[in-house]
Amino acid sequence: LGAAARLYTEEDPLVILSSGNLTPTVSNSSSAWLVQFYSSWCGHCIQYSSTWKTLAQDVKDWQRAISVAVLDCAQEENFDICKDYGIKFYPTFKYFRAHSPQTDKGTTYRGADREVQSVRRLMVNILQNHTRPDRPDNCPPLEAHSSADLLPLLGQRSNHYTAIVIEDPDSYIGREVILDLLQFSGVEVRRGLSSDRPLLDALKITVFPSVYLLHPNGSQTRLHVEKRLRCFFSSSLRLLPGVQRRHWSDSSGFRTSQMVALTPKQSNNPWRDFDRSKVYTADLESGLHYLLRVELATHSSLEGEELKIFKDFVTLVTKLYPGGGSVVKLMETLSDWLLSLPLQRIPYQAILDLVDNKMRISGVFLGAELRWVGCQGSGAGLRGYPCSLWTLFHVLTVQHETRPMALDNTGLEAEAAPVLQVMRRYIRTFFGCEECGRHFEHAAAASMDRVQNREQQILWLWNQHNMVNYRLAGSLSDDPLFPKAPWPSPALCASCHEEKDGVHVWNQDNVFRFLLHHYAASNLSPYHSL
Ligand code: FAD
Repeated sequence: LGAAARLYTEEDPLVILSSGNLTPTVSNSSSAWLVQFYSSWCGHCIQYSSTWKTLAQDVKDWQRAISVAVLDCAQEENFDICKDYGIKFYPTFKYFRAHSPQTDKGTTYRGADREVQSVRRLMVNILQNHTRPDRPDNCPPLEAHSSADLLPLLGQRSNHYTAIVIEDPDSYIGREVILDLLQFSGVEVRRGLSSDRPLLDALKITVFPSVYLLHPNGSQTRLHVEKRLRCFFSSSLRLLPGVQRRHWSDSSGFRTSQMVALTPKQSNNPWRDFDRSKVYTADLESGLHYLLRVELATHSSLEGEELKIFKDFVTLVTKLYPGGGSVVKLMETLSDWLLSLPLQRIPYQAILDLVDNKMRISGVFLGAELRWVGCQGSGAGLRGYPCSLWTLFHVLTVQHETRPMALDNTGLEAEAAPVLQVMRRYIRTFFGCEECGRHFEHAAAASMDRVQNREQQILWLWNQHNMVNYRLAGSLSDDPLFPKAPWPSPALCASCHEEKDGVHVWNQDNVFRFLLHHYAASNLSPYHSL
């Protein structure tokens, strides 16, 4: 079946079923299931796979209530099970209610409209059509609450926020936001209707949909969003103070021991409030400190290809690191020294002596302490170094756009995307998290060579970083206080977000403009706190 057999891979945010696990997975399950039975030789199924993946990504956070899956009926081992489930055409969508018996062969969805928005609405309807005792274990009620239920909550203290989405009866946004917040603690979302006069009068709401927010301390406000779109509401609620992603005990995803080891123990520094719209020099410098003094130290000497890759990394940082100062001075010294040496092999200790400025060259300095600010994590093993590495490379892609000539005569200027290429080689060769390196290499091999210019270089890295964010959301390397999400959030850049046919889309021109601003030298903060 060749390449077509792998229409869906383990990387996709959905469950790949087969004859061995279909029935045990979908029957007696605590969640409902929506399964696409497809055939990898059917042209339409091949075309449709990107829509199904978009859907699966769009509703990934709903999976405790309803999960998305696929089963390939063209695989020989699946012939019998597809017959058993009565599959005659491809693709066939079947859904299984939560707690359904083994004898249930699922209900076929016969709607002609298979676009993301329609299937997503189907999923909401499936959840609502459960009878009360059979409802998925983790699915809150999706029905609208009346003013009689909601108004007594006003002014009450509680240990969480309550968000009331008030909308027209046929709007799906409220139910979608309820499901988007399913994996988050610290906020409960309820739905009220625009037809509920006493509710509107009490809350003085005239535009729909609107979200009314009851704070834990008993106060209340309107949730301000720039656009009345699902992603704006969901993102704002997820960013409320104290709202955290839940880590279910059987959480899939991983924080590999490598990842934990990679993020150095947080220093005992107290928590520092910081501004998410800034980039902090302290993170970049702590990252370089860790890279030069810890990550590199695992190599007792550098030679051949490794040495070349390290030299290129140092050249890149020397030429593009913004703002001058003692770090650039150090990198310049290091770069000159590396380039002047005719040696094939350099002991790490010699590099360290230079980094520690044993020669006492004036103005050369790199702090020997981890002082994370924008990269602070809420616990050991969270954020820190990998966060600073992403940040560094984003800064470098933007600096390359701002100062295109900076790499002239370095040997790097001939490459279409030198920052990405150096990053790729660095990650592959030195980055301590092997698993991360493998994933990144995979992505680079698939599309990095298509990057033609500096603008695409900036956007490629932004997009790739978001792919990683999507994949890791809810995994163990996700800091509950900084849940991974598509970035920039609507709060950081409202004009970056749009909807097309009910599906979130990026406005890439505005994303590009935002990245230029966010990672510019002028947005670098030298402070260690707000
Ligand atoms: P990070 O993802 O580290 O982001 C740092 C900061 O960059 C954010 O705070 C935000 O301000 C900004 N940002 C976020 N998204 C974007 C974007 N799309 N564009 C521009 N700026 C953005 N961990 C794993 O568990 N598995 C992996 O496979 C894995 N692969 C990795 C590959 C690479 C190349 C790197 C550098 C890291 C990898 N990691 C992986 C680590 C992981 O991506 C995070 O860096 C780590 O979990 C810390 O997360 P964070 O919350 O600090 O945010």
